[in-house]
Amino acid sequence: MKIGIVGTGMVGSTAAYALVMRGFGSEIVLVDKDKKRASAEANDILHAVPFAHPLDIFSGDYADLKGCRVVIVAAGVSQKSGETRLELLQRNADVFRQVIPEVLTVAKDAVIVVATNPVDIMTHMASHFASQMGVPKSRVLGSGTTLDTARFRSLLGRHLDVDSQHVHAYVVGEHGDSEVVSWSSATIAGMSLEEFCEVRKLSLTQEHRDSIDENVRRAAYHIIEGKGATYYGIGSALARIVHAILNNQRAILTVCGRVDAVGDVKDVTIAMPHLIDGEGLVDSIPIALSNAEQSALQASAAVIREAIDSINL
Ligand code: ADP
Repeated sequence: MKIGIVGTGMVGSTAAYALVMRGFGSEIVLVDKDKKRASAEANDILHAVPFAHPLDIFSGDYADLKGCRVVIVAAGVSQKSGETRLELLQRNADVFRQVIPEVLTVAKDAVIVVATNPVDIMTHMASHFASQMGVPKSRVLGSGTTLDTARFRSLLGRHLDVDSQHVHAYVVGEHGDSEVVSWSSATIAGMSLEEFCEVRKLSLTQEHRDSIDENVRRAAYHIIEGKGATYYGIGSALARIVHAILNNQRAILTVCGRVDAVGDVKDVTIAMPHLIDGEGLVDSIPIALSNAEQSALQASAAVIREAIDSINL
């Protein structure tokens, strides 16, 4: 199955590498306005294929996206010095105004997976441009808090000495400062964290919780401070999302998608657990949040909606 990636900076190309290493798909096409970069990334990753899984990876133009089941969009521009967040958003809106119709004109049936930050807002824009072409909103999703959820599970697993794949816990809301780390809905082996700690004679104090929360929420800042960018985690999360789509898996992942309302915030794109199949978003799954978490989710939705309202679409 064919996968396209538009935008082959660190995030797009790491996603391609993750797809190759895991053997997802049979053909991967890299497209970037910087053709030299796309071609160099495709060649570099091609040389990893003999050590991974048999598939083809090459760079091309939009026309080469024909037949893609999934297209990851990681294209974007970075902040210029002195530029405001809003000016940057507006320039990224212009990138998507061009990219999304180009992709959907060629890859008519593809599910679009947006990775460009701020991902909730960029996914909302992608959905807006896609809807102008009659594409249903279920076919546009973003990486949302898939990575934040993985960070939460890994830190909880480490603290409670259990494999993170056996921790069920979610981060919802904006992929950013206002995201909601949901402690109240977290379970391990069908038990709440309090029950699990009692059974296993472990302690999970408020201090532990605060430290895990901080490390989930501020992870990107800490990583960027140390190495200038984050890409391995998000690249792997994107590969996981693509896998769910290619395999019609009906997986539940905290991607972001456009929903009618979160409380009194209408028409907003936000991360929540979503059921995902081969056609994209099937439904959002409302997890049971505590009252405080529910209010935090609404506040987070308001932050996203305010940013959406500030752009000229
Ligand atoms: P990240 O670290 O998020 O991957 P980068 O700035 O490294 O960010 O990568 C963004 C990529 O998007 C760059 O390779 C850039 O050339 C590409 N890009 C920007 N605008 C467009 C566009 N209109 N069409 C295709 N690719 C684009």
